[in-house]
Amino acid sequence: MFFQTINKLSHYFQQEFFPENTKGETTSKIYLIYSFSIIAFVFLFSLGIKGLKTSNPILSTFLLGSALIFIVNIVYLKKTSNIKIAGNTVLYVLSALMLYLLYTGGVEGTGPLWIYVLAPLFFYINGLKQGSYSILIFLMLMSIILYGIEPSALHETYSESFKLRFILSFIVVGFLSSAYEYSRETSIKHLQKLRKDLENMTLKDDLTGLYNRRAYNQNLKTIHEIGGSILMCDIDHFKIINDKYGHSVGDFVIQKVAACIQQNIRKEDIAIRWGGEEFFIFLSKLDENQAYLVGEKLREMIENLTIEYKHHTLRITISIGISPLYKELPIEDAIKKSDDAMYVAKDAGRNKTVKSI
Ligand code: GH3
Ligand code: MG
Ligand code: MG
Repeated sequence: MFFQTINKLSHYFQQEFFPENTKGETTSKIYLIYSFSIIAFVFLFSLGIKGLKTSNPILSTFLLGSALIFIVNIVYLKKTSNIKIAGNTVLYVLSALMLYLLYTGGVEGTGPLWIYVLAPLFFYINGLKQGSYSILIFLMLMSIILYGIEPSALHETYSESFKLRFILSFIVVGFLSSAYEYSRETSIKHLQKLRKDLENMTLKDDLTGLYNRRAYNQNLKTIHEIGGSILMCDIDHFKIINDKYGHSVGDFVIQKVAACIQQNIRKEDIAIRWGGEEFFIFLSKLDENQAYLVGEKLREMIENLTIEYKHHTLRITISIGISPLYKELPIEDAIKKSDDAMYVAKDAGRNKTVKSI
């Protein structure tokens, strides 16, 4: 029963506060800020109310004011999803509260004990670099309170050994938190790199480095929505190269053609190794006539390419078929049209660019 209720609550919390597209690091930061704000609110509110009943009205007002800021912060984060501002609000309010606790001593001089909470929080919310600056500034403010302010009615007097040990232990906690944050950031970078490598491995072709059919399948909807033209290119008489010079020379030729294609299309275009020595090129937002010019440029470049491999010098040509790609035409039909046009180019003697009819 208890666990069911907790599950329901956390499900509601998840649905209510986390939009579908917030992931990983961002989600856990939002989660932490919400949790911290809620816990801090409950904690500060009850302490504030308790304080009102007893003796310390200034501390109570301060506590209740901070509790209110945490509630406003929860609403703000829910409305804007701005982690930077919401996170820093948590940090600054807590810092102010902690400095106040240090100054007054809190309940029977135990106030400073809460200060250690801040060290990991500074790093988690602001990262290693900015977190280090914040913590140094906070350390400075603490030292001013402990050593620079003359004791008054409000000011708790700490013994010299307490002050020194308190500052030193805070430095140790800060240092450990920074080491933890450093290893956390390094692991995240490492994971991001692994993810990128894995993506490259699954979406890119080993031989040419061009995208593969899997990448096409993943992006065909987007390609179709953007629209433009499709070029289907096939190397002419490629079998002869394999038969005459061997498979590895054939591979080298495929790599050279792929590189030439990749270097001569725009960032927004996509070249895919479609099959053995066949390439699919998506030319974003170009109509068939503009695509024809690009196809002709590519065809001529490859015709003029001299491919040196060990002691062989090879010349090759490609045949290209073009089809427009637009919303009303299913993408499979556009591919079929460009394929057919490519076979027309082959039949017409190869080394040609042909538009679909
Ligand atoms: P066409 O002008 O009609 O296209 O003639 P072609 O010789 O190129 O004919 P086809 O497209 O049928 O031949 C493709 C050949 O490419 C057959 C296959 O052995 C070879 N091939 C496919 N993939 C690779 C590859 O990854 N490396 C090498 N070296 N050869 C490959
Ligand atoms: Mg061929
Ligand atoms: Mg072929």
